[in-house]
Amino acid sequence: MANEGKANSTSRIAIVTGGTRGIGRAICEMLASEGRTVIANYGGNDDAARAFTDETGIVTYKWDVGDHEACIDGCAKVEADVGPIDIVVNNAGITRDGVLHRMTYDDWHDVMRVNLGGCFNMAKACFPGMRTRKWGRIVNIGSINGQAGQYGQVNYAAAKSGIHGFTKALAQEGARSGVTVNAIAPGYIDTDMVAAVPEAVLEKIVAQIPVGRLGHAEEIARGVAFLASEDGGFVTGSTMSINGGQHMY
Ligand code: NDP
Repeated sequence: MANEGKANSTSRIAIVTGGTRGIGRAICEMLASEGRTVIANYGGNDDAARAFTDETGIVTYKWDVGDHEACIDGCAKVEADVGPIDIVVNNAGITRDGVLHRMTYDDWHDVMRVNLGGCFNMAKACFPGMRTRKWGRIVNIGSINGQAGQYGQVNYAAAKSGIHGFTKALAQEGARSGVTVNAIAPGYIDTDMVAAVPEAVLEKIVAQIPVGRLGHAEEIARGVAFLASEDGGFVTGSTMSINGGQHMY
């Protein structure tokens, strides 16, 4: 119980991978609006990162989350510059879609490396410190397609499904030390990633969403903010589905 105290709760330091665009950006803005000290990591789009900092005032750090050493070094730099990282949101993700007979090994490997490997790398960098300090929150962004599968996405579905298993396993390791580990499985959200889906395919997808529309990044951010909060301390190893009712279980 002592580890869940609310003293200085808003001053927690949060890092959001892939925080400069789309869902990650909304998460950064939501956490910052709650008074958290927020750091946004990103992968390569410097223009988007500059615009993000200009518009939000949130500091960015660039490294590839699929690169183990880069994560260890990047998080060490953030901690030296800002302070101990209390909250990690593993949001960075990519797609390399294609049916299996056309998918290359690189398509498979890139997606596993960034989407799933990134979670491992960030946890290796931040989880030990959280355990020592007896407080931490890790929120991993999975996907409806990791729960239900999706045509043309064996790489992405496998990586996202892996995130859900990773979450449940690490949650067991952190539970006694005040570190919760949870996942959010978004449905289809109106970001650049979904803008890449052909319009005809998107129409068919929206027709399958009971709520009748795409989701908004802020709706995912609201879920992250809860799981990252002091009040979320009894929630661990869970997957929160935020998908307009498209996949229920
Ligand atoms: P976007 O493509 O809009 O943004 C992706 C972000 O991840 C960018 O900030 C990008 O940085 C960053 N990124 C990509 N690769 C790396 C890397 N190797 N290292 C560090 N950062 C990286 O994605 P969304 O906002 O749509 O998606 C965010 C997360 O939500 C992803 O994990 C995605 O799989 C998941 N998701 C999205 C859904 C959707 O409908 N949009 C549905 C379900 C899950 P940069 O700008 O430098 O490229």
